[in-house]
Amino acid sequence: MSLEQYRDVWAYCVAEKGKLTRPSLEILAAARKVADQIGQKVGAVLVGYGLDQVVDEAIARGADLVVYADEPWLSSYLCLPYTRVVCEMAEKLKPYALIFVADELGRDLSPRVAYRLNTGLATDNISLAVEDYYFGPLNTTFKNVIAQIRPDFATRVAKIFTPRHRPQIASIRPGNYEPLPEDWSRKGEKIRFRPQPNPEDFSVQIIEEKEVPKSSIDLEGATVVVTIGLGILKDGAGNPKNPKEGYEIAKKLVDLLKEKYGVKSELGATRALIHAELKELEGLVTSERQVGQTGKTVSPEIYVALGVSGSVQHRVGMIKSKKIIAINTDPKAPIFEIAHYGIRGDLYQLVPNIIGLLGGGAGGR
Ligand SMILES: Cc1cc2nc3c(=O)[nH]c(=O)nc-3n(C[C@H](O)[C@H](O)[C@H](O)COP(=O)(O)OP(=O)(O)OC[C@H]3O[C@@H](n4cnc5c(N)ncnc54)[C@H](O)[C@@H]3O)c2cc1C
Repeated sequence: MSLEQYRDVWAYCVAEKGKLTRPSLEILAAARKVADQIGQKVGAVLVGYGLDQVVDEAIARGADLVVYADEPWLSSYLCLPYTRVVCEMAEKLKPYALIFVADELGRDLSPRVAYRLNTGLATDNISLAVEDYYFGPLNTTFKNVIAQIRPDFATRVAKIFTPRHRPQIASIRPGNYEPLPEDWSRKGEKIRFRPQPNPEDFSVQIIEEKEVPKSSIDLEGATVVVTIGLGILKDGAGNPKNPKEGYEIAKKLVDLLKEKYGVKSELGATRALIHAELKELEGLVTSERQVGQTGKTVSPEIYVALGVSGSVQHRVGMIKSKKIIAINTDPKAPIFEIAHYGIRGDLYQLVPNIIGLLGGGAGGR
């Protein structure tokens, strides 16, 4: 079968409590963007039990077709049966691309599906585009393939192509696409699969399921994120500071915005600060607060970076913020390349003044 015969951009969607999850809505929007560029359809893939409502929701949220398996034995996620079902769907209908959310489930399922379908996978993308790709060894240009855009290990953002195989499989980190608005007047095709359970897939059985309490730290949902980095370890003159002081100044700004202005605000941190495992910040600055490639992706109205250099791994987690304010002593800090408001200076001097101006008490302390 020629590559051109593979059609449609599928998004593997997940439902929770009868609704599609927000990251599923995001990848439907990503699929829509790719599909529109190549004149193809968006397919939502759903595997589970009791899916009637979410099948319709997927159409309202941008899917032109929904490919689904709705069986009692699929009611809980298990990687082997789910892999088999998704592969059967793809082998039968031959999609051009298959997109997953780069979360725990997507990271488990997508490589297994890619392996069984004998195709490539680029994980943890922040964006997808459609481009022509010239492949030197074959002296061939592949038309209209997906450029999978993701941060590299060093300081680059890489584009990955898997032009010679279909479906092109990608996972996208949550927080990088805005869901499409709901439109319940949309019509779509529903393709129900009726797979049979294969006993070989049930070497693991689920005995009990317990919901893990949700963390009270909601970085992704915050309107303002104030992030601290290793810059809190010294003042503007280079003298060592107790990092707890830097933490408390930032926390005071967060609390002021919450309490006086009613703005949903959260404290974030860089990976370098969290990994420093400073005893002064024990229990206060934990990995739940990490923003970046290996942490959370945030897109608040305002992002305040205090003593953060702005490494590429940090940037990919906050670049979609509407307004970025950076305070840094180093005028060459990369964070200034993306800041809408860049202030060169010592956070220990500037932040208390800002707190004072916002009515948070003289000097902010
Ligand atoms: C695979 C991989 C994944 C990674 N994932 C992430 C991730 O998810 N998130 C993340 O954040 N990092 C991540 N990193 C680490 C990343 O590369 C950087 O090391 C890290 O972001 C740097 O953190 P920082 O800005 O706090 O520290 P630094 O780079 O040390 O920057 C500190 C900044 O503070 C400034 N400063 C110093 N004193 C003051 C002061 N008194 N007032 C104001 N400014 C001051 C300095 O000028 C400097 O720019 C990852 C790295 C790798 C290799």
